[in-house]
Amino acid sequence: MAKEKLIKNKALQLCLEAKEIITPNRASILDLLIKNNKPLAAYELKEMLKDNNKGLNISTIYRVLDFWIKMKVVHKLSILNKYVLCSNPDEVHTHITNICTKCSSVVETCNENMGLNLKESTKNMGVALTPDLNVEIPVLCASCK
Ligand SMILES: [Zn+2]
Ligand SMILES: [Zn+2]
Repeated sequence: MAKEKLIKNKALQLCLEAKEIITPNRASILDLLIKNNKPLAAYELKEMLKDNNKGLNISTIYRVLDFWIKMKVVHKLSILNKYVLCSNPDEVHTHITNICTKCSSVVETCNENMGLNLKESTKNMGVALTPDLNVEIPVLCASCK
């Protein structure tokens, strides 16, 4: 439970800094992502919200997810077409999500830890990494490889 509280406080703090408010819809979706602790698809969130007697249409859910991505609280995983909580929102550089293609578990690593200097390589090409977006790497996790 302590970790849930920590993530929630961090999200609150990021919103405060950005002068954004946590609306009830934003809060419910964040709570579901925290509670489930695994990548979730928008339609899975929709089903869960329905079970909680909170019917939201899918475009609202996508809008809320985009908001949390912008706040750097959530990462989109295009490979899985799902969304997951960032495991370390305090890291300011581009995040790397290593996604197990077999069991969908996600391990986040940062550039420096992996020995990859994406910032340098993109700089050499005259391009820059898109802010807010994570780099997705398909992997087989320790239990699936
Ligand atoms: Zn992250
Ligand atoms: Zn796996």
